[in-house]
Amino acid sequence: MSVREEFDRWAAEGRDRGMEERHWHTAKPILARMPVEAGETVLDLGSGSGYAARALRETKGAGRAYGLDGSAEMVRNARSYTDDPRVTFLQGEFGHLPFVDDSIDHCFSMEAFYYATDPGRTLEELHRVLRPGGTFFCAVNYYEENVHSHGWGANVDAGMTRWSRGTYRDAFRAAGFHVAEQDNVPDRETEIPPASEFPTDSWATREAMVERYRTYGTLLTVGVVP
Ligand code: SAH
Repeated sequence: MSVREEFDRWAAEGRDRGMEERHWHTAKPILARMPVEAGETVLDLGSGSGYAARALRETKGAGRAYGLDGSAEMVRNARSYTDDPRVTFLQGEFGHLPFVDDSIDHCFSMEAFYYATDPGRTLEELHRVLRPGGTFFCAVNYYEENVHSHGWGANVDAGMTRWSRGTYRDAFRAAGFHVAEQDNVPDRETEIPPASEFPTDSWATREAMVERYRTYGTLLTVGVVP
């Protein structure tokens, strides 16, 4: 099954809202950190339910927010959750962004970048469409240091690229970005039960669950176009 078919199925089952709820825990502080000025144009790469485009319009006064997703069903759902004429959802491919050079001020992406067929090419495309000084806030929970994510490939019938922190930085630089910062954003909202309740269905020990959510959380790499 292709990534597109897989996520069409997820969208049809309403799982886009479940992802929004889970990802919002760390998306919220990351979106708040983006240097978006009123009136600027932003892009959410792999937009799912479209929450990031809506949030950047509502909280930062972005003048235009695009969400791009390969799944027609995700795009359809995202469109149905807003009637803001300045929020636009497009079906498209990470490897061929439908924007002219230097036309986007800032880009956000949550739990989507590692599905790119060719992640290096996606970074080159982002570098092309972002204006000088534009930023790419790339957030992932699936990465090498997060050992708790290593089994996730089995849940998703699609190719996934598992890079380390260092590989993210190297790849950003190879595509022409400066790496402005990189850090782990903890998820403080997922409830962790008391020790007496472990093992749970998902976690053998409380320590492992704490490590997954509070220590590793979401890996954020921020690239800036020189
Ligand atoms: N950012 C959202 C959705 C994450 S799921 C959230 O935080 O909830 C990843 C999304 O990326 C899916 O909707 C999927 O259709 C999209 N996607 C994956 N690979 C893609 C590709 N190569 N081109 C375009 N969209 C892609």
